[in-house]
Amino acid sequence: MQTYTAVGSASVQARETVRQRVVIIGGGTAGITIAAQLARKGVRDVAIIEPSPKHYYQPLWTLVGAGVVPVEQSVRDEARYIPKGARWIQDYAVEIDPEQNLVCTRGGTRVQYDYLVVAPGVVSDWDKIQGASETLGRNGVSTNYSYDLAPKTWEFIQQTREGVALFTMPNTAEPGYTIKCGGAPQKIAYMAADYFRMMGRPVKVIYATAGGMLFAVPEFLRVLETVCDRYGIEVLTKHELVAVDPVRKAATFALKDKPGETRTIEFDMLHISPPQHAPEFVRKSPLAHQDGQMVGFVEVDIHTLQHARYPNVFSLGDAAGLPTSRTGAAVRKQAPVVVNNLLKVMQGKEPDKRYNGYTSCPLVTAYGRMVLAEFDYNNNPTPSIPFIDAQKERFDMWLLKKYGLPWLYWNLMLRGLA
Ligand SMILES: Cc1cc2nc3c(=O)[nH]c(=O)nc-3n(C[C@H](O)[C@H](O)[C@H](O)COP(=O)(O)OP(=O)(O)OC[C@H]3O[C@@H](n4cnc5c(N)ncnc54)[C@H](O)[C@@H]3O)c2cc1C
Repeated sequence: MQTYTAVGSASVQARETVRQRVVIIGGGTAGITIAAQLARKGVRDVAIIEPSPKHYYQPLWTLVGAGVVPVEQSVRDEARYIPKGARWIQDYAVEIDPEQNLVCTRGGTRVQYDYLVVAPGVVSDWDKIQGASETLGRNGVSTNYSYDLAPKTWEFIQQTREGVALFTMPNTAEPGYTIKCGGAPQKIAYMAADYFRMMGRPVKVIYATAGGMLFAVPEFLRVLETVCDRYGIEVLTKHELVAVDPVRKAATFALKDKPGETRTIEFDMLHISPPQHAPEFVRKSPLAHQDGQMVGFVEVDIHTLQHARYPNVFSLGDAAGLPTSRTGAAVRKQAPVVVNNLLKVMQGKEPDKRYNGYTSCPLVTAYGRMVLAEFDYNNNPTPSIPFIDAQKERFDMWLLKKYGLPWLYWNLMLRGLA
C-alpha cells in the first residue's frame, strides 16, 4: 500500500488507483453540465469526483429566503444527474498533481487522467467575519448562501416588525476573494423591503457593501438605484463587515475609505453574504494563480478556458480564474466552450471556441418583479431574449426566475441540452 501526503490535509492511505480518460472534479452545475455534454458527444471513459449525494440548484435560495418556495425544491439526488456510463467517484479531491496527471481523493483513491476539468466551486470563508459562524441561524443572523440557512432568512424577515434589517456584501476586491452571484446579496434586501412595505412595518433596510457602488454595469445600476429609492433603502458603500456581536445584535464594518476606522450598526435582523474563495486543494495546487487578483483560482485562458500551463487541463464555473460574475448562467455559456476545446485538444488541434465573459444575474426586485442583467467581460449589456426590454422590472422575468430557469436547469442544462 502506498502513502502520500494530501495537500491541506492529513496523510492518507492510497487504497486504489483508477485510470480515466477524462476526470471532472466537482459534480455541481459546471461538472454535471460538462459530463452530460461530453456524453452526448460520445466521449466515454469519464469520471466525476463529487462527494455530495445531493445536487443543489442554488439560485433558488434567494426565493427560499424570501419565502416564495420551500428549500426542498432546490435539491435532488446527485445520482439522477450522473450521465449513463460515467463513473462517479463519491469522494473529495484533496490534491492535484498536474505533472503526473493525478488527482488524489480524501479516501485514498489515486485517479489518473489524460484530461482534467476542474469545477469544484468556491467555499465561504466565515472566519473572516469575527463572531459570524457562532451566531448564524440564531439572533436574527442568517445567510442565503447555504441550503440549511436560507429558510432561516425567511423566518427572521417575518419576525422583524420594526428596527433595522441589515444586508451585507463582502469585499471582493481583495485578491483571491469573490462572491458567487454578486446580485444575490442585494436581491434579498429588495425582497425583504417589499415584504415590510406590504406588511406596513416600519423597518429600515440598510444595504452595506464593501464595494464602491451598488452594481458595476451602468445600465442596471440606474434601475437598481430607482428600486432602492422606492423602498427607502439606505445604501452604504465601502463598508466591509468584519464582526458580529450576537448579544448586542451589532455589526461592525471596516470603512474601506478610512483605513483603521470602523463603524458599528445595531440590527434586528442581519443577512450576511460571506466572502468566498477557491477550495484549499485548488489554492495549494500548481494549477492556481500564484498571485494577482485571481490568486488561488484556476489559471485558465479567460477565452478558451484551457489552463495556461497544462494544456490537458480546463476549468470553468466558480473555481475558474475568470474576471466575470460567477453564476450558473455563466457556466451555461462556458460549458460548450470547454467541451469543444477539450475535444479539439484530444484530436491534437488547437482550441478554437471562445467565451466572452457572458454572465447573467436575475435581479428580483419585488414579489413579482425581476430585472435580467446580462453582460460580458467588458460590462457591456448582452441581452439574449429578443423583443424584451429586460432592463426594466418585469413580471414575465419573475415567472422566468421562479418557474422557467429551474425547469431549464434540471431538464436541459444538466442533461447537456442547453
Ligand atoms: C444564494 C445564491 C444565489 C444564486 N443566484 C444565482 C442566479 O440567480 N443565477 C445564476 O446563474 N447563478 C446563481 N448563483 C450561483 C450559481 O449557483 C453558481 O455560480 C454555480 O452553481 C457555479 O457552478 P459550479 O459548478 O462552479 O459550482 P457548484 O455548483 O457550487 O458545484 C461545485 C461542486 O463541487 C463539489 N466539490 C466541492 N469540493 C470538492 C472537492 N474537494 N472534490 C470534489 N468535489 C468537490 C461540491 O460538492 C459541488 O457539488 C447563486 C448562488 C447562490 C449561493
